[in-house]
Amino acid sequence: MITDTVASAVAFETVIGLEIHAQLVTKSKMFCGCSAAAFAGEPNANVCPVCMGMPGVLPVINREAVRQAVRVALALHGTVQRESKFDRKNYTYPDLPKGYQISQYDLPLSRGGFVAVLTEAGERRVGITRVHMEEDTGRSLHRTHPDGSGYSLVDLNRAGVPLLEIVSEPDMRSPEEARQYLVTLRDILRYIGASTGNMEEGALRCDANISLRPQGASEFGAKVEIKNVNSFRGVYRAIQYEVQRQAEVLRAGGTLIQETRGWSEERGVTLPQRTKEYADDYRYFPEPDLPTLVLSDAFIAEARASLPELPDARRHRYSTDFGVNVSDAAALSGSRELGDYFEAITDGTTDRTRIALATALITNDWLTLHNERGLSLADAPSAPDVRGLMDLIERGVISRSTAKEVFAAMVETRQRADVIVKERGLAQQSDAGALTAMIERAIADNPKMVADYNKNPNALNALVGQVMKMSRGTANNQVVRELLIQRLAATE
Ligand SMILES: [Zn+2]
Repeated sequence: MITDTVASAVAFETVIGLEIHAQLVTKSKMFCGCSAAAFAGEPNANVCPVCMGMPGVLPVINREAVRQAVRVALALHGTVQRESKFDRKNYTYPDLPKGYQISQYDLPLSRGGFVAVLTEAGERRVGITRVHMEEDTGRSLHRTHPDGSGYSLVDLNRAGVPLLEIVSEPDMRSPEEARQYLVTLRDILRYIGASTGNMEEGALRCDANISLRPQGASEFGAKVEIKNVNSFRGVYRAIQYEVQRQAEVLRAGGTLIQETRGWSEERGVTLPQRTKEYADDYRYFPEPDLPTLVLSDAFIAEARASLPELPDARRHRYSTDFGVNVSDAAALSGSRELGDYFEAITDGTTDRTRIALATALITNDWLTLHNERGLSLADAPSAPDVRGLMDLIERGVISRSTAKEVFAAMVETRQRADVIVKERGLAQQSDAGALTAMIERAIADNPKMVADYNKNPNALNALVGQVMKMSRGTANNQVVRELLIQRLAATE
């Protein structure tokens, strides 16, 4: 028998799919020669009859946009289609001058593929349904007259800028997974230089499809689409909110409708926008002004050959070849520049201890400074200078904890480690003569610590700490320890 309590405790599975629009890095727009630098300059500075939708003009496909699109599709392990087709997606909107957007409908540029996403539970593959090309729309600016009445201005700089739409399978199961997928995808786009992936500037936009279904069910529930969330945090929060909202409706015995909702960043809620259009509403038909897009094997091969090592391949290599743990490997391969820096520092060494030291210097020392002070990699010490610092640690000239201070000083002063160590007197003191006076003082000043040690050898740490403090951290910890044990044994 199912009681009310049991029914209301039904667990739901969250099903999330993301549609990402990424602006491709090209000099000119998708179908005309206007500058694609859509975010700089005066409104309507980068426009021509083609992107303004004047009658009688003809679009021409931008070869570089296609090349970048193919590179993205290959980086996502997709199957690039030898033939694809452009279609008109019809709708009316003030910032869409032609009354339709040129997109790809039933024959997209690429099908299939996946993104390997690192989650707490390990690596998961999120499937890619398709990747297709389209053009961006313009932008409406809403203003107010002095009398309070409103008016709108249209800026067409962005109209016709090449976009790539990347549609995922509904493979994600939590807001965190969706966020992680988005970050991973952004990293890939940046690695290959196909898009800046900058969400704040609108170069990367995300629509999220979310539905819930009872745990174990195979059919999907009614899908809600959240439009144009413009930050990584926003994507996470919007999905989290929507999951909660849908679960509450279902638990209260209500039904969900398929609809489009907007995310309000200020209020932290999603709000209904309109009932979801179906594909029929767009009256898609083949773009009569453009030929079928036919790609040669040579064109695709060239695009493939131009791809650098991708973040997931790099992460695997750091784990298997270098013995770096999974989360450090992910941090090091998160950006192409940081991975290059790591490899310049390790400089082909196979010494695991040295690799571990380089890993720690980057993931702890450097990334902490980078995050706290908003530094860029250009502010980091050069790879040869970091190798110099590692030599000092390995030779026992400075301790690992002193190295932290030296590293920060290297960033601030741009000086070499050996110069800083010498100027600031940071070299470790291993000389028994120099340390003995400090040891004698520590023993004389702290009779309680000595008594504790006589009862429990672990209490030695407190006395070691006293000596380290007196030496401002420069005493060789191991030598102090040995000298203290000898000295205290002699007094027993
Ligand atoms: Zn134009």
